[in-house]
Amino acid sequence: MYRMRSWSVRNARWLKKLYAGFERVLLWLDPLFRRIGYKRLDAPFAAIEKVTKGFLLDSQNCGQCIVGFTGLSCPMNCPKKMRNGPCGGVSGDGRCEVDPEMTCVWVLAWEGNKQITNDDYPLQVVQPPVDHRLIGKSAWLREVRLKADELASDGHAV
Ligand code: SF4
Repeated sequence: MYRMRSWSVRNARWLKKLYAGFERVLLWLDPLFRRIGYKRLDAPFAAIEKVTKGFLLDSQNCGQCIVGFTGLSCPMNCPKKMRNGPCGGVSGDGRCEVDPEMTCVWVLAWEGNKQITNDDYPLQVVQPPVDHRLIGKSAWLREVRLKADELASDGHAV
């Protein structure tokens, strides 16, 4: 929902903390997810994500969410899909050059990043191009699976 975008970036700090707690629960459930099968769980999780992130962040469900790096501003709302900073057309009052009705997603990203005071999610991290095979899939499950694999390869129990 467009109106929620700026609310979420203004509240990025505690929303980020809330998500971190939620992710810990998902990580704890990783053995169960593996038993059921991540593939089988993808559709229901993607549907929940679509509703919650769609409402809170106006998320476009790219399946490779980077809002943790962008102050909770979804870069897929950019008409040019800029994922590594703004184009050269942001207007003086922060409006998008393509869609002047909206604030540039990178102006919001800057605002959201200011709310997140530690350096865990720097805005400057270079993001890879969008993998179109992941669009519409669950970014939560993908992230949890990657983190659980990392922990397992480091010899830590999940
Ligand atoms: S002004 Fe911002 S939102 Fe608009 S196209 Fe450029 S980068 Fe994207």
